[in-house]
Amino acid sequence: MDFHIVTVSGDGIGPDVVEQGKRILDKVGEKFGHSFQFEEQLAGGVAIDATGEPLPEQTVEACLKSDSVLLGAVGGPKWDNLPNVRPEQALLGLRSRLGLFANLRPAELFAQLAAASPLKPEIIGHELDLLIVRELTGGIYFGEHGRSADGHAAWDTEAYSTPEIERVLRVGFDAAAKRRGKLTVVDKANILETSRLWREVARAMAAEHPDIQCEYLYVDNCAMQLIRDPKQFDVIVTSNMFGDILSDEASMLAGSIGMLASASLGDRASSKGILGMYEPIHGSAPDIADQDLANPIATILSCAMMLRYSFDLQAEADAVRSAVERVLDKGYRTGDIYSEGTQKVGTKEMGALIAAEI
Ligand code: NAD
Repeated sequence: MDFHIVTVSGDGIGPDVVEQGKRILDKVGEKFGHSFQFEEQLAGGVAIDATGEPLPEQTVEACLKSDSVLLGAVGGPKWDNLPNVRPEQALLGLRSRLGLFANLRPAELFAQLAAASPLKPEIIGHELDLLIVRELTGGIYFGEHGRSADGHAAWDTEAYSTPEIERVLRVGFDAAAKRRGKLTVVDKANILETSRLWREVARAMAAEHPDIQCEYLYVDNCAMQLIRDPKQFDVIVTSNMFGDILSDEASMLAGSIGMLASASLGDRASSKGILGMYEPIHGSAPDIADQDLANPIATILSCAMMLRYSFDLQAEADAVRSAVERVLDKGYRTGDIYSEGTQKVGTKEMGALIAAEI
């Protein structure tokens, strides 16, 4: 199959890591008989420099016509003090214009890096692999906000509709079906009416998915369980604010920021599957930009997510993941995950080593 991918490399280490993501997709294409065409578009600081805007309309149009988007990172000190414009506006703009309502964040700890986790070995074990699906465009962040006339009272409103809940739960059920078949719906149904609606909708959908083991957990308990016994989870699905907090907590379990991938999905079909935006969770790391120091694995694993979730290419996605594991097994590390006794390599060499293992 032919795939048309828009790359938005952005700022700082964005171009360093996206280059390696493209290299991996090219190698997957060669091995599995696909072809990936890449089209670079501007967003973030580089777009401000070139056009005055963080998200030029041309970028949005190109993304909408693509089969999926691979994003590096945006932002940096150069653009921190501009009046009225910030590179990060590009991210919110892309999410809303592409209709991306579900954010998927795996917290993955590879056995080879288990020592990087802040949890004790007897809790974390050899590896960890859970996925948080967060609703991205509704809930309290987008509800009515207000202040009383005297300024001494304030409110933010959490509102969800059944269709909004259904569509993100569907992403959760589908993801669980592609993984170990367990879904945990996280809410605060003992207190919040919106949570009770989430549970009602989830229960109805669970009846239609007898193959998925569906469980319900209060958010405060979930926050504890993530530290006490994170291996009990496969897929967690939750609202915007709960997901924001839990996904950051879970990402800490995995140790290094240079290893963590993410995907944002909507329901816009492309000719090859579902249009998604795939990006590492780290930022533009201006301190190490353009020095061949960045870890490209988060971006490479984001490419594996693209293969899995947008194009349903499971064998290809598994091949990328296994290639990363084999390179770690052989002892190669970028600076951020280096430990004594392993061999330090740069961004480009890490990309080349992983490509060679596919
Ligand atoms: P950051 O993630 O860029 O960097 C934090 C630390 O982690 C730095 O020491 C950096 O060197 C290191 N690091 C990050 N990614 C790495 C990688 N792949 N390999 C090795 N080391 C890595 O966060 P920050 O310093 O808070 O932000 C820098 C800029 O990035 C800011 O302008 C911020 O607004 C922006 N940002 C963008 C995104 C995004 O585009 N999605 C996300 C977060 C921050």
